[in-house]
Amino acid sequence: MSEPTTRRAAELAERAAGLDAADPLAGLRKRFTLPDGVVYLDGNSLGALPAGVPERVAEVVSREWGTELIRSWSSGTWWTAPERIGDRIAPLVGAAPGQVVVGDSTSVNLFKALVGAARLAGPGRTELLVDASTFPTDGYIAASAARMTGLTAVPVDPSRAAAAMGERTAAVLLNHVDYRSGRLHDLPGLTRAAHAAGALAVWDLCHSAGALPVGLDAHGVDFAVGCTYKYLNGGPGSPAYLYVAERHQEGFDSPLPGWNGHAEPFAMTPEYAPAAGAVRGRVGTPDILSMLALEAALDAWDGVEVEAVRAKSLALTDFFLECVAAYVPQGRVESVTPAAHAERGSQVSLRTEGARAVMDELIARGVIGDFRAPDVLRFGFTPLYVGFADAERAARTLGHVFG
Ligand SMILES: *Cc1c(COP(=O)(O)O)cnc(C)c1O
Repeated sequence: MSEPTTRRAAELAERAAGLDAADPLAGLRKRFTLPDGVVYLDGNSLGALPAGVPERVAEVVSREWGTELIRSWSSGTWWTAPERIGDRIAPLVGAAPGQVVVGDSTSVNLFKALVGAARLAGPGRTELLVDASTFPTDGYIAASAARMTGLTAVPVDPSRAAAAMGERTAAVLLNHVDYRSGRLHDLPGLTRAAHAAGALAVWDLCHSAGALPVGLDAHGVDFAVGCTYKYLNGGPGSPAYLYVAERHQEGFDSPLPGWNGHAEPFAMTPEYAPAAGAVRGRVGTPDILSMLALEAALDAWDGVEVEAVRAKSLALTDFFLECVAAYVPQGRVESVTPAAHAERGSQVSLRTEGARAVMDELIARGVIGDFRAPDVLRFGFTPLYVGFADAERAARTLGHVFG
């Protein structure tokens, strides 16, 4: 590094140390098990391991399954886990109890929500608007849900979604935060616009829940889905969740009416009678090992306010961008994540030539982010375990990769 760069590096490292020392959430890192020497900026793809999970999973396997056997279904914590864990996630997304149920993947919950929304839409509604830049599975599932319900799926850029809503719109599927760019969309405004058009608003929270306030109830969202293995740290393939606003629960006609969502599952009747509340979003037997690992993972949130997480997330991404500007040679990277706080999620995406090779090199040097085709370096900031010194080291290492 040149003389001025070295001086600037010392100054940024000192700033980082000061910011970490003043960070009210700094102590939360102890609630996670992270390998030494690694800066982990991929928690928006797979969250880190919360410290209490291994012990809880071992207990579930050896005692609840091994010793208690079938009795754990009736006397233990198993049968009611989907709605119980849903109620643990609810405050993180601004939902009152009884509206969130955990189970299946995000893809499957999207299917339930979209078909459910289409079936609730008023007569004459023929279109399902879908975020055109969405994570692919959302688009695939929306197209199938539309075909099944006689609607036409219409891709729309989120910036033009409000203008596209009208009397033909049955429902609109949008992402709270775009997975590639990290752009935060206006959930309150777009939900209002959907309602003004007489349509239902379905939100995908995969990249916002656990990173920033969502306010599902406050903004009158109709349906929402999200992952738990990203910012909620539930573990690889941990079950997703489905939010059905209380006012829609009575009319929610799930396209997957499995026996777990029945009002009396053990009556074993040939006719389907849906359970009341979010429980009717259940389908089949829940994957207990993943589900209870997720429940233990949520202990990391004890006493944590999402607002404080959001404040730290913005400070971290601001600081990372400042360090990138200081360390990376001019013109080598371009941020595709909006600078405006109101439009930024909890990640920074940098466009660069040869992004895949750059990310491989970063990972080899202990800074783990990820690559998204065609040319994006993605850095996710999980405020529960990422600090300012991590942000500084990541940007400095990126500068070294560019030589
Ligand atoms: C991560 C993600 C998914 C993942 O869906 P799975 O069914 O869990 O594989 C879906 N949609 C979005 C927007 C995502 O970011």
